[in-house]
Amino acid sequence: MTEGFETLAIHAGQEADPRTGAVVPPIYATSTYKQDGVGGLRSGYEYSRTANPTRTALEECLAALEGGVRGLAFASGMAAEDTVLRALCRPGDHVIIPNDAYGGTYRLFHKVYTRWGLTFDPVPLGDLDAVRAAITPATRLIWVETPTNPLLGVADIAALAQLAREAGARLVVDNTFASPYLQQPLALGADIVVHSTTKYIGGHSDVVGGAIVTSDAELGELFAFHQNAMGGVAGPFDAWLTLRGVKTLAVRMDRHCDNAERVVEMLCSHPKVTQVYYPGLPTHPGHEVAAKQMRRFGGMVSFRVAGGEEAAVRVCDRARLFTLGESLGGVESLIEHPGRMTHQSVAGSPLEVPGDLVRLSVGIESVDDLLADLTEALR
Ligand SMILES: *Cc1c(COP(=O)(O)O)cnc(C)c1O
Repeated sequence: MTEGFETLAIHAGQEADPRTGAVVPPIYATSTYKQDGVGGLRSGYEYSRTANPTRTALEECLAALEGGVRGLAFASGMAAEDTVLRALCRPGDHVIIPNDAYGGTYRLFHKVYTRWGLTFDPVPLGDLDAVRAAITPATRLIWVETPTNPLLGVADIAALAQLAREAGARLVVDNTFASPYLQQPLALGADIVVHSTTKYIGGHSDVVGGAIVTSDAELGELFAFHQNAMGGVAGPFDAWLTLRGVKTLAVRMDRHCDNAERVVEMLCSHPKVTQVYYPGLPTHPGHEVAAKQMRRFGGMVSFRVAGGEEAAVRVCDRARLFTLGESLGGVESLIEHPGRMTHQSVAGSPLEVPGDLVRLSVGIESVDDLLADLTEALR
């Protein structure tokens, strides 16, 4: 019998310490390990770039939560993405990415990998015909985000997995926005999941990290080789903080969703709000697909403000409880202006976002306080 998500979040990879009985995996702040004779490794530990027990605990937990066979933890989400690309792509290969990909992902392709001979096409992944048309014989990966940032676009993971299989390509899903509690891409046919664990998995805005999870043992070995060869690993303290955060992922996500639903309800009836982006809205173009592949619809909400860019910036400036800041997924609510903050780097590109857009990461504070703060900011 496989254990439930909440049980895995608290126990997978985290047996009590055999020496002391400590119920929480210790922070193994060590670079190297004493060997019992040359080559006589204890439990396989040799050097902490290669493996560290605190990181192993996190990696096993993340693999269990995504329903994969191998998890690997990195110093950041970008380090995890970079590892996937370098392990799987060669000069001349082609990748399909979302036309509203995370800005850092777009920058990695556009500014870094283009110089190494990788080509890519931003495509609206909600449009399967557009994806099919963009596939070439050189297409190695289809890179998916769903829901996307900041427009909360939804892509059909199972349908894209089928397209990827037919094309002999791999399907990678950046599952940062949904978290494994709300969406399980490997079960829907994806080959690889990547995360910025900085966001919902860590959940407390106190650590930067990333992860790869795969359901293919051979791919897992390939990524582990590259993790060690390239070295962008999560340190033991960062791994410990992330592991501490992930234990409460399920309860936090449910509250993020509860609060986001109330915020959406308020925004939809507000006269100064011209459009609300949330996959939970029946009017959202991706609602049916989201309802099929997600448990609930998450804590991210974007909306457009009457009065254009200046009005949107004013709302961001006037919010008090919603802290003005980048990032997302922590217990505290954040507000930002994507056009001038997180998505400034994609201005003028196909990924440019509307100037009157405001993005919220709805936290788990008392929802009445959140509603009052937004009402005041919109006044
Ligand atoms: C933040 C983020 C990343 C990058 O992760 P870092 O931990 O900041 O390196 C990648 N994808 C998405 C969707 C993100 O939100």
